[in-house]
Amino acid sequence: MDLAEVGAIAGGGVRRLALTDEDRRGRDLFARWCREAGCTVRYDAVGNVFARRAGRDGALPPVVTGSHLDTQPNGGRFDGAYGVMAGLEVVRALNDAGIETEAPIEVVAWTNEEGTRFAPSMMGSMAFAGLMSLDAVLGSRDAQGLAFGDELARIGYRGEGLGGRPIGAYFEAHIEQGPVLEETNHTIGVVTGGQGQCWYDLELAGQAAHAGSTPMDRRRDALLGAARVVEAVNRIGTAFPPGGVATVGHLSVSPDSRNVIPGRVSMSIEIRHPDDGRRAAMDAAVREAVADAAARGSLEATLHEVLDQPAAPFDADCVAAVREGARAEGLAYLEMVSGAAHDAIAISRIAPTAMVFVPCAGGVSHNEAESATPADLAAGCRVLARAMLARAGSAVRSGAAR
Ligand SMILES: [Zn+2]
Repeated sequence: MDLAEVGAIAGGGVRRLALTDEDRRGRDLFARWCREAGCTVRYDAVGNVFARRAGRDGALPPVVTGSHLDTQPNGGRFDGAYGVMAGLEVVRALNDAGIETEAPIEVVAWTNEEGTRFAPSMMGSMAFAGLMSLDAVLGSRDAQGLAFGDELARIGYRGEGLGGRPIGAYFEAHIEQGPVLEETNHTIGVVTGGQGQCWYDLELAGQAAHAGSTPMDRRRDALLGAARVVEAVNRIGTAFPPGGVATVGHLSVSPDSRNVIPGRVSMSIEIRHPDDGRRAAMDAAVREAVADAAARGSLEATLHEVLDQPAAPFDADCVAAVREGARAEGLAYLEMVSGAAHDAIAISRIAPTAMVFVPCAGGVSHNEAESATPADLAAGCRVLARAMLARAGSAVRSGAAR
């Protein structure tokens, strides 16, 4: 709640866009709290902040947890911030209990997860995982033309080095950002991986013509074809349970005039599924639906795939550690696939990874009204601590609590 004061906006929300003064103040607060908890704090070339609590064996790869501190323009208090604060709380709890771990523990705040000021999203974790080049990150510009690298230096978080070091395990706690846990009365989501997705741009071209003098049987109405595609995409999403979703989120009509038959439509299509084989079947169904709508309306269709991202199954042992943590705490848990993208999905490409979800009120996120209960947040934090301890090596009591 103290962190949520930084960039607080009306309605209980937060606006802390990446690499703004608010982002700097949030980072400063996080870094100060971590130093007060005995951690050493450093940041890398893209501004990812790592707070390290030493282990008994400094040569072991660290067990890492964290998330992001940046928000959407009208964001909430929990998306990202919860995962970073949960990591800090794990460190504080280990301190209070006088527990040393074999492997070091690190809490990370990844830079620019939201992708709202600088695109794409998950820049910090993708760069750390080698999925995006340092030049591409630093050269990215916001809507005002300001460069990521300059803004990072301006707020004082342009450090040295980028990735290239082993991570023993990565765990990320996050609000679910969907309604499933709340509706099914589960406290913990044991996240087994991220969905794969395909994004497409579709252009439908017909013939713009007079709305009064063109007979119905002579029309080549691009919007009518688009409507058939929208309907088909929705049907495809429904036809691939469990986990299939399909959406048309953008549509632009030309010439966009009341008394002209639409000659051209540009639209987006996206499909997601946790199973790549099933997603390939959805892809084929989308292509067939587009060809069918084009043939029925005498339209020319140009379908361009702009993203083909495979599913990201998490590490079975890390997932088991989260499941065991929930069991040990006596919490009702549900195994689930993450519908949203997270830093954990990028990190899962280079390190054993799993996530812990907790419910958020009404499934609402990316919204000022985002809310979660202290009891659920604490439960998620305890599960996170157990999973991290399981991976960081047998915990050892070091005598008197600090
Ligand atoms: Zn997030």
